[in-house]
Amino acid sequence: MLQLVDIGSFPIALYEPIVGRAQIDRLKELAEPLKGCRVTHINATSYGGGVSELLRAAVPLIRDLGIDATWQVIYGAPPFFEVTKKIHNALQGARNGLTAEQRETYLMHNRHNAGLLEDDYDFIVVHDPQPAALRRFQGRGRARWLWRCHIDTSDRNEEVWKFLEPFIQEYDTLIFTMPEFVPPDFASTREISIVHPAIDPLSPKNMPLPEYLCQRILQWVGVDTRRPLVTQVSRFDPWKDPFGTLEIYRRVREKIPGLQLALLGHIAGDDPEGWTIYGKLVAEVKEDPDIHLFTNYTAASSVEVNAFQRHADVVIQKSIREGFGLVVSETLWKTTPVVGGRTGGIPMQMPEGVGGFLVDSVEEAVPRVQFLLENPREARELGMRGRRNVLHNYLITRYVEDELRLLNALIDRKGRG
Ligand code: UDP
Repeated sequence: MLQLVDIGSFPIALYEPIVGRAQIDRLKELAEPLKGCRVTHINATSYGGGVSELLRAAVPLIRDLGIDATWQVIYGAPPFFEVTKKIHNALQGARNGLTAEQRETYLMHNRHNAGLLEDDYDFIVVHDPQPAALRRFQGRGRARWLWRCHIDTSDRNEEVWKFLEPFIQEYDTLIFTMPEFVPPDFASTREISIVHPAIDPLSPKNMPLPEYLCQRILQWVGVDTRRPLVTQVSRFDPWKDPFGTLEIYRRVREKIPGLQLALLGHIAGDDPEGWTIYGKLVAEVKEDPDIHLFTNYTAASSVEVNAFQRHADVVIQKSIREGFGLVVSETLWKTTPVVGGRTGGIPMQMPEGVGGFLVDSVEEAVPRVQFLLENPREARELGMRGRRNVLHNYLITRYVEDELRLLNALIDRKGRG
């Protein structure tokens, strides 16, 4: 079988004080017709990046609602993940295409993984391009297949898209993060669902953490908690622009001496580019003791991320391309203001006057970061408004509700398998 991620079920009732009784009742009602159904989510990695974060939060709640839900991860040798990262970059706009050998590597791994997908499911939800051809090679049985795209495909490389498209067309339902990401030929011929990702307010990354503990965690990893701090939490990926963040920090520090920067980067299991970018950053920051660079192998696990996002004066997420950018909602939930790139899902999380400032360049970001550092009252007010927006739109209970609605609609359309 594929690699089953070891998760339990987590009580949905614990969310009632946060989201209210009505939402929990709605979830129970939506789960009723799905009780006993077998649902599996499949993606490429159990750690690192927003998709694993989302599945880690959603699947235990779906289980608690009485649905037999699992999460499985595909197998892949390094050459496969080299190819899938290339596909990921191409869908976000990189111009390089795929060689015949790379296409074959992709197909061979999908064929192999399809052979390992056992059992009889009612619903199979496949996330992102890495396992997208599973349906082609394992399309037997009564399951309804859903493909969930988390990437900004609005400026996709058409050659790579044309390679993937036939596999994606075979799914019963397609789900995108924003309408802008849907390729126009799909928009006219396919029924598409739009579902925004969301954060789990009760996960170790987002649960309440008192300020004294945040400070202790940061001190323990070498940060001076009496001095100002800006932070970025992201995979080490060119689209997340960590070098842009470095440049912003250096320029703001000219105005605010003593400023520190923490870069926390997850190196995801399906992201071979991560180590290369990390190596470049190590070389770049080694002369400055006020830049702290952490990976998930050192000090960037969930509780540390929680402490950094809470304690930082400003979080920078000046991405060049972004699917949704869960880190923005994670940060705003803690009322910390964000200076974010005007791309993908970030503007949705930070409408005008909410959460912080949107920017298009390093030049624009520098005065915004400086303003937030020098005006803590305004910064806090923006952060508070950001939290309210997350509460109403980007919590995991709403995400689970959207998913249950979708599954119900599929049952209604086709009848029980
Ligand atoms: N993350 C983390 N540690 C890190 C860097 C990232 O736990 O050092 C997590 C981050 O908190 C968030 C996810 O990885 O939950 C990134 O999701 P996002 O949607 O922002 O970006 P993606 O990586 O999916 O492009």
